[in-house]
Amino acid sequence: MSELVVEVNNLSRSFGKTNALDCVDFKASRGKIYGLVGANGAGKTTLIKHLLGLLRAKSGSVRIFGEDPVRNSQGVLKRIGYLSEDRDIPDWMSIDELMRYTSAYHSGWDQSYAAELLNTFSLDSAKKIKTLSRGMRAQVALISAVAHRPDLLILDEPSSGLDAVVRKDILNAVVRTISEEGRTVIFSSHLLEEVERLSDHVTMIHQGKITLDSSLELINNNHHCSSIRFADPQNPLPLLEGVVAISGEGRSWSAVHEGSISAFQDAVKKIGGEVLESRHATLEEVFVSRVGRPDIRELSQLKENTK
Ligand code: ATP
Repeated sequence: MSELVVEVNNLSRSFGKTNALDCVDFKASRGKIYGLVGANGAGKTTLIKHLLGLLRAKSGSVRIFGEDPVRNSQGVLKRIGYLSEDRDIPDWMSIDELMRYTSAYHSGWDQSYAAELLNTFSLDSAKKIKTLSRGMRAQVALISAVAHRPDLLILDEPSSGLDAVVRKDILNAVVRTISEEGRTVIFSSHLLEEVERLSDHVTMIHQGKITLDSSLELINNNHHCSSIRFADPQNPLPLLEGVVAISGEGRSWSAVHEGSISAFQDAVKKIGGEVLESRHATLEEVFVSRVGRPDIRELSQLKENTK
């Protein structure tokens, strides 16, 4: 069996003048957890809709388990668990009715796992869905997405509506269990700290383009945050190799940069500065440095000035 569960090649999608996806390549392998990160409107849900076959690839291709999810929607969807962004579950059913209804669609439905999760969330299965809080609805939707133990679990903003305890303990446990069983999880999130805690692999998407796609380990090893000091004020700061974002003024600067610390120290030394302190950049710092926030604009101005 192929280890590649998802294979997206050169996928583009426009809605009117908006390029929701722009030449996106994305691959996901068996047994791994993929965090999809991007600001509002970055294109995460549009990508997910293509994986589910809810949108047809007009340009580029999408393969799930080696199949086209639009042409073979039945074969593909029965192996996927999906938690939608808007938790669209029928209001008029009770939790128990929803569980029975959902189980009818999935031959692999694991009733004891569903019951165990209902118990963990302290949900009363006799309750009507319309009487549940937003967080409870999210919990019910999550159970219906995972209880058939899908080969691929796709969660669109799973934390939205969940309180901190449920988010940290239960969501983590559910996602970890799925991946430890050799199944694949793809989840989108705005919570960088959560993505850092849960993912094996991080894909950053910005205005429809993939800006970073790498294992979390590589991202951690490759990105550092350093503070730099110069004897004299620098204005503008000469271009430094490997810098993805920089801020500061005069003698003191702070940079997020790629590559080794020693290479960066050498580069700073060459322009007459000194690295005072370096540490691994957090995922949040890497993200902010990649999405064109003020720091990165500052950097492109520096590049312009040094041309
Ligand atoms: P969020 O985190 O806010 O949910 P997202 O990363 O999931 O955002 P998408 O929902 O994929 O972003 O949207 C990407 C872009 O495509 C946005 O500019 C959005 O307005 C646009 N878009 C998405 N779906 C449609 C649609 N059906 N019709 C028109 N524009 C759309």
